[in-house]
Amino acid sequence: MTARVVRVDPSVCVGSATCSSTAPGVFALDQEAGVARVISQDGAPITDIEEAVSLCPVEAIAWETGDRDPSSGASPA
Ligand code: SF4
Repeated sequence: MTARVVRVDPSVCVGSATCSSTAPGVFALDQEAGVARVISQDGAPITDIEEAVSLCPVEAIAWETGDRDPSSGASPA
């Protein structure tokens, strides 16, 4: 199913953890990789997700149209 989904670009993310602090139900920091990943599209109110997008210091988070599968949330390949 395609929908508006939030993505983290791991090639841009610097692991600041701002997103995982702002919307912890949506973003989680992968300690091993040192980058954030999307763990759920529905884990926080949309306003919290929007705030995380706006607060990312390197603009690594973006909205896309795509698959809502959380496992595909780490990277827009
Ligand atoms: S706020 Fe941006 S740079 Fe920081 S962990 Fe999240 S995606 Fe990465």
